[in-house]
Amino acid sequence: MFAGLLSKSVGHSTDFSRLAQASVEFRDVIKKYSDHVVLNNINLTISAGEVVTILGPSGSGKSTLIRLINQLEELSGGDIYIDGKPTRNIKGQALRQLRSRVGFVFQQFNLYTHLTALQNISLALVKVHGWSATAAAERGLALLRQVGLEEKAHQYPDSLSGGQQQRVAIARALAPSPQIILFDEPTSALDPEMIGEVLQVMKQLAHSGITMIVVTHEMQFAREIADRVVFIDGGQILETAAPADFFQRPAHPRARQFLQKVLDPLHQEHGE
Ligand code: ADP
Ligand code: MG
Repeated sequence: MFAGLLSKSVGHSTDFSRLAQASVEFRDVIKKYSDHVVLNNINLTISAGEVVTILGPSGSGKSTLIRLINQLEELSGGDIYIDGKPTRNIKGQALRQLRSRVGFVFQQFNLYTHLTALQNISLALVKVHGWSATAAAERGLALLRQVGLEEKAHQYPDSLSGGQQQRVAIARALAPSPQIILFDEPTSALDPEMIGEVLQVMKQLAHSGITMIVVTHEMQFAREIADRVVFIDGGQILETAAPADFFQRPAHPRARQFLQKVLDPLHQEHGE
């Protein structure tokens, strides 16, 4: 049960041992809200162990894209395959299993405010996965150690900083040993001085072998950790490229425009 944890991690270590991984494939995926098409014919294959960053302007469909993977949103068309198996319309126990294979980290952390950091991590292990309280607490502490927060185990979220809360949320997402982890703008709600500690943990994770899909506006980080960048605008994938190519010579005019705005916001009016 404890496979995937690094036993020797100490203090503020954020080393992760080799984690499991699974592929994700979008085939002709469509998402509509009533008549409003927000994702239009998405085809994208993410290999097991790949680290992909999703970039694009606000409202382009980034959150929807990743929320579909663990069915926080329902597909309107097409299907998403995890390790080659279709996931459309799965329910009940199969859906709970899917969600334990696919961790999700939200922009607003979404910790349970009435539970301690440790309880936030161990709750689902006990309630959903049938672990004993002792084993779940042990696992929770090991994960807290890995994100550098072992000493905060018994604190409640409102006594933790935003950066600490997000690190607890990452530990929680990792608790059931997922093969895929999704991040939806994990640092966008943080004060600037707390962004680094969260990115640091994510960087370690990116080297762990887990399949990782990150929606972010942290361009330097995206460039550094990604095997591949996916640029989306207006509900469509307009470009997928290696980070070096994407940031140095984006092929799509909308990608160029986007990069100009985010990399040089003060001078965007002089763009093109
Ligand atoms: P992003 O994460 O890139 O900012 P989203 O995936 O959140 O974009 O949203 C894509 C589009 O879908 C937007 O036009 C947004 O208004 C719309 N949308 C998102 N969620 C809902 C919803 N629950 N109901 C209706 N429209 C939604
Ligand atoms: Mg979003």
